[in-house]
Amino acid sequence: MRILPMHKLLQLAGKLLGRNKLSILIYHQVLAEHDPMRPSEPTAEVFDWHMRLLQRYFTPLSLDDALHHLQHNSLPANAVCVTFDDGYLNNLTVAQPILAKYNIPATVYIATGFSQGTNMWNDRLIYLFADTKRQQINLQGELITLADWPQRRELAQQWLMKLKYLPIDQRLVAVENLYQENEAAEQAPLMMNPNEIKQLAAAGVCIGAHTINHPILKVLSPAEQQNEIVQSKQQLEQWAERPVTHFAYPNGVLGRDFDETAVNIVQNAGFDSAVTTDWGVSTGENSVFKLKRFTPWDRSRLKFHIRLVNRYWQKG
Ligand SMILES: [Zn+2]
Repeated sequence: MRILPMHKLLQLAGKLLGRNKLSILIYHQVLAEHDPMRPSEPTAEVFDWHMRLLQRYFTPLSLDDALHHLQHNSLPANAVCVTFDDGYLNNLTVAQPILAKYNIPATVYIATGFSQGTNMWNDRLIYLFADTKRQQINLQGELITLADWPQRRELAQQWLMKLKYLPIDQRLVAVENLYQENEAAEQAPLMMNPNEIKQLAAAGVCIGAHTINHPILKVLSPAEQQNEIVQSKQQLEQWAERPVTHFAYPNGVLGRDFDETAVNIVQNAGFDSAVTTDWGVSTGENSVFKLKRFTPWDRSRLKFHIRLVNRYWQKG
């Protein structure tokens, strides 16, 4: 409670600096319990104080409301949107009740190809290194001893980077081969199925599209990009039983992961907005098809708050 006046000051600073600037936060998972392989993902406890702080000192808005205000230069001070990428089941089971508790609107961008029980390649890869029953791992013929969590995390990171920019089919084959070489079993599905997506939508969370297979769009042909973008929208509209008008580019760095080809397809497909993972805040001058976002990863409430307000210093 001692630091409360500081939060009040930051709220004031946000009011002065953050006029007509929109912060959009990116989350992926909200974990029921701490996961040593994902130390930076918030737990329910951490997410709870994030949302409490937003409710107390910021103006959380739905993406639709925020876009309306952005275009009419009427954003309230300290405006913030909460978004989640990929479509993890814990968005429904862990995050949604906390969002409801603080009455905070949110958007969840879903890659539809993982809604039938298959986990994303990155989660499958991490799981290989996370199994504490496994003391050794065969990495393409090289036998590596698995030790403590930092070493397991480091190895997983190395392999994530190694496979990330391979063409999607080669990437999936590489992960599949690692599973076979190590006789590894699959973990339970981590993503929402169609029925769970419908439940999330019914609970008032906005459903956005995030392609089918979560590819790096830039390496695909325009026709393939069109397919990934348009079909994920149609599929989600069917499952959620409502229009899907917001999109998130997979990986999301403009120029590196997607380019104007994807931007045009998204615009022509009938979306109202698209978010990137380029760090920053958005103003009315930014294209609504290249909205910036950032991840609030700070451990302390004060640093978290400072980081949110600090974002407003940036022009965009
Ligand atoms: Zn994603």
